[in-house]
Amino acid sequence: MVGRYRQDLTGSTRLVGLIGEDVSRSLSLLLHNEAFSSLELDWAYVPLPVAHEPHERLGDAVRGLRALGFVGANVTMPYKVEVLPFLDELTSTARRIGAVNTIRVDDDGRLIGGNTDGVGFLADLGQQGVDWREHPALILGAGGAARAVANTLAERDCPHITVVNRTESRACRLVDELTDTFPQQSVEASPWTERVDAARSDSLIINCTPVGMDGIRTPGGESSPWPADAALFPDQVVADLVYTPQLTPLLIRAMKEGLQGVPGLGMLVHQAALSFAWWTDASPPVEAMHEALSHQPGCL
Ligand code: NAP
Repeated sequence: MVGRYRQDLTGSTRLVGLIGEDVSRSLSLLLHNEAFSSLELDWAYVPLPVAHEPHERLGDAVRGLRALGFVGANVTMPYKVEVLPFLDELTSTARRIGAVNTIRVDDDGRLIGGNTDGVGFLADLGQQGVDWREHPALILGAGGAARAVANTLAERDCPHITVVNRTESRACRLVDELTDTFPQQSVEASPWTERVDAARSDSLIINCTPVGMDGIRTPGGESSPWPADAALFPDQVVADLVYTPQLTPLLIRAMKEGLQGVPGLGMLVHQAALSFAWWTDASPPVEAMHEALSHQPGCL
């Protein structure tokens, strides 16, 4: 039943959902409902849109998970950091990253915040045959996703990490935190305008900004975070967390020039699979989740 949601909810269907400001085009609904369906679990994943104003709405929504008997939820833009004060406990990973993309309500009704973004990203890199221990990483962005990726790379022996961000102070703050947590890690911040000079000939360039999504451009007005007149080198690998469109202007250019490109859809599946496992204690049907996405318009 790819792409078709179940009609047979019962009084005992277990519920999880997606909290975000605009969840109307999220692929997580498809991914999780397909996973439940393929394992014949009486679970459902529902949209939980939460208006940004008034601010109390987010707290009401998160506490509502407990009141309504939800098993958990995913959290997406712009609430991955804002949600922290409303949770009872964080996993060590979420605490280190400082952002939550998954909530689990435990048997005592405690709201536990976790983060599967970083491990999901590295799981996909591994599946694509990219060894991050062989590449210095150049991370574009310092928001929630960049924090998850940077922390997980530092935890897993990435040789060097450079963070560049439009707001430089946020890049510096992330680098300071990484240095505190991983004193052995080689890490530095660079201004957004110097991102090209900060790259090395074998860098793993990771776009953790939304630039490349329809209508989102760099401060210089470009639809790719990598300037059109700046070189890319054959030993570089380019990963883009953006998955709408699946092939961003950055990835299209990198692949045309013969570099390996890693689209964000793979990370989407892996982070979802890890959330699924945390909620259900079942082994996630990763293949079925990939398969569900392949039936989406515009997906490879
Ligand atoms: P976020 O917390 O809002 O952070 C956004 C980051 O991008 C910030 O560093 C911001 O810089 C920078 N940025 C925003 N607009 C920019 C622009 N026009 N030019 C240059 N930099 C810009 O968002 P997030 O949760 O990290 O998500 C970032 C992207 O990753 C989104 O597109 C999201 O869909 C994607 N994502 C994908 C997956 C996946 O599974 N594939 C998972 C998580 C996130 P400032 O600090 O200057 O504002």
